[in-house]
Amino acid sequence: YGDPSQNIDYVFKVVLIGDSAVGKSQILARFSRNEFSLDSKATIGVEFQTRTLVIEHKSVKAQIWDTAGQERYRAVTSAYYRGAVGAMLVYDITKRQTFDHIPRWLEELRSHADKNIVIILIGNKCDLENQREVPTEDAKEFAQKEGLFFLETSALEATNVETAFMTVLTEIFNIVN
Ligand code: GDP
Ligand code: MG
Repeated sequence: YGDPSQNIDYVFKVVLIGDSAVGKSQILARFSRNEFSLDSKATIGVEFQTRTLVIEHKSVKAQIWDTAGQERYRAVTSAYYRGAVGAMLVYDITKRQTFDHIPRWLEELRSHADKNIVIILIGNKCDLENQREVPTEDAKEFAQKEGLFFLETSALEATNVETAFMTVLTEIFNIVN
């Protein structure tokens, strides 16, 4: 998970947004430390985690920001979005409401963030297939319409978490190069 001695070529700020309890903090824990906890407490204090990886022979430090329990509508401040070049818009595939709120999060993102920000829509908790309330097709269609990348993930089983981050980071990398 990153060699701190190497020189950093790029730092990319990526923000996690979406309703409370969709799994944002666990997605970040999986990506930054390869950890997962089933009884994660509300995130307090920690603003971001980093992980350095290599993309096309360059070392890229991903600085991933996590909301500290500010998920209520319009509670996330503009400082959170400032300088972000990527965003992960997360919902829970077992909670329809969290998907229904995505347009709202997208609107907030678009009004605060840079207009060229790279956005991926993420349907998390895909390990809970038997509790699914959001069909993959609905999300895929929405993502297509809005021009977003889309993946279903499981922070629990580590499904697609790496791919989701790599999708965003590689796209950002390609834009700046
Ligand atoms: P946040 O409020 O969006 O940061 O959500 P958390 O990361 O704190 O996760 C909320 C709850 O969902 C916790 O109990 C997690 O253990 C659980 N959770 C997170 N990701 C997954 C997942 O991929 N699968 C399952 N089954 N549970 C998850
Ligand atoms: Mg959290």
